[in-house]
Amino acid sequence: MEKLILAVQLARDAVSLFKTLLKDTVPNSTQKEIVEKKFQEAERNFQIAEAEAAQNLGYSICRCTWPPQIMLDTSKEEKEAIFVCPKCKKTEKIVGLIDDDQIDYLRQR
Ligand SMILES: [Zn+2]
Repeated sequence: MEKLILAVQLARDAVSLFKTLLKDTVPNSTQKEIVEKKFQEAERNFQIAEAEAAQNLGYSICRCTWPPQIMLDTSKEEKEAIFVCPKCKKTEKIVGLIDDDQIDYLRQR
């Protein structure tokens, strides 16, 4: 699942680079607008896929934006996670609901 997240992030970065390249090098036209819209759709779908993958790994999701924000664990305690939204700073405490492998994975991030 971590590999999936990495793949999604790389694809999103690639789309972002193509978007910049398109904006800076191609003169305005209807075709350019169509391609830009497709890139925006792709970026949005990558964000949704990333949030879904993170949720499968035990991360909490904050719904303050769409696509949703991935909340990161800030707890220093064993067997608990305190997830914080990077955008709105909302917190969510989870005790004993995640297994040791998930806690280890979260600690490495
Ligand atoms: Zn939030």
